[in-house]
Amino acid sequence: MNSLGWDDTIAAISTPLGIGGIGIVRISGPQARAIAQRLFRPRRGRAALRSHQFYLGEILHPEEDRVLDEVLLVWMGKPKTYTREDVVEIHCHSGILILQEILQAVLKCGARLAEPGEFTKRAFLNGRIDLTQAESVLDLIQAQTARSLELAHQQRSGRLAQEVQRLRESLLDLLAHLEAQIDFPEEEIPELSPAALAQRIGLLRDRLDSWIQTFREGKVYREGIATAIVGRPNVGKSSLLNALLRQDRAIVTPIPGTTRDVLEETVAVGGIPLRLMDTAGLRRAKDSIEAEGIRRTEECLRMADLILWVVDGSQPLGPEDLDILEKIRSKKTVVALNKNDLPARVERDELQGRLPEAPVVSISALRGTGLEELRKTVRALVLKGKVEPSDTVLLTHLRHKQALERCRDALRQALEAAARRFSIEFVALDIRQALQALGEITGETTSAEVLERIFQQFCIGK
Ligand code: GDP
Repeated sequence: MNSLGWDDTIAAISTPLGIGGIGIVRISGPQARAIAQRLFRPRRGRAALRSHQFYLGEILHPEEDRVLDEVLLVWMGKPKTYTREDVVEIHCHSGILILQEILQAVLKCGARLAEPGEFTKRAFLNGRIDLTQAESVLDLIQAQTARSLELAHQQRSGRLAQEVQRLRESLLDLLAHLEAQIDFPEEEIPELSPAALAQRIGLLRDRLDSWIQTFREGKVYREGIATAIVGRPNVGKSSLLNALLRQDRAIVTPIPGTTRDVLEETVAVGGIPLRLMDTAGLRRAKDSIEAEGIRRTEECLRMADLILWVVDGSQPLGPEDLDILEKIRSKKTVVALNKNDLPARVERDELQGRLPEAPVVSISALRGTGLEELRKTVRALVLKGKVEPSDTVLLTHLRHKQALERCRDALRQALEAAARRFSIEFVALDIRQALQALGEITGETTSAEVLERIFQQFCIGK
């Protein structure tokens, strides 16, 4: 049993299940090497496995006299491994059956099937990475635009944790000072005047405030923006969708855990991942019954954070357009005035007059013109023109934002206690609370329950 309370060896298939060049079974824990030695027959001799070296050979069935696959195997001795435990990777041919058979063999030899995210969880519990870095692993895998990926890398490299650490040190300094005053009142510790105390706390609170503000942008990159393309039939919604997908398609993502039966497609528009809602519905719309179409549109409108309203500029606005207009009045909307390759029958000013807040962009989905302008407009609207400089560590996780808010609230209380000239014990207490909140971000003070929730989002094998 190690000091953290486990001594078992875990194993899982770490590559996607399917047909492919290479599939990997990963093993981590004290038995990893023994299991490898039992199952693996190296091509050349029986020399003991050396750490961090690949060996060509075969994996044998543990009980029957048969070869499961020809593989490359690497044993990596702790602590220089992903989990800081002994790790073995078996690189075999990626066939579903092969991978399953090898995994079964490994389990038969004493490993247990890893839970989702358990390798990364061990890396965290063994102190190789902090909690923000563990979370970034999931972000890396799921990133859909270049900027999302960049932010995930930033977090993986520990930038977020460093920033938290900086705040922590400032708070610890302050706390040490206050505690010295409390514990050794008779000593000659230069007392922090109430004004100086308030000033130091105030500065920290301001820093937190501006950091918390970055979440609006950070969230957009990590989660994307739920976007609905709406407009009456034949205005060119599908054409616009296809034009965007042709140029900007990220990936088709079934979003796990949602009850919706539609696939969401993501396009990176101006670097912003737009999660296009009900694109399946859009394609089906022509032959589906009208009531169903309307129901879907309403549902989309309700859920969307951004509306792309497509208007046919070659036709005067009709009652159907005005109907839609009423429904999207309160929403963040970009109007795509389509078919600008045809003579215009809609006055831009008229449209703008009816929907004063929404930018109107003239495009031709058919010819693919105006799309660049559309991208810029979407980007400006989503980020409200405010883009953080790229060296800012953006907050991308709600969890981090909420912990920082708790930290800031504790500092506000500390400020109030200082302003009311409460005994400095109270101020110290608030600062300890602020520190506790910071610790939750990096995982020092995170409850088991929260940890559980974080790692459950991972897939098995990661
Ligand atoms: P939806 O019903 O809103 O999805 O509209 P579609 O994308 O199916 O387009 C309806 C018709 O308008 C099709 O015949 C398209 O080829 C045509 N269309 C779409 N965009 C343009 C455009 O920019 N210019 C012209 N001239 N025709 C377009």
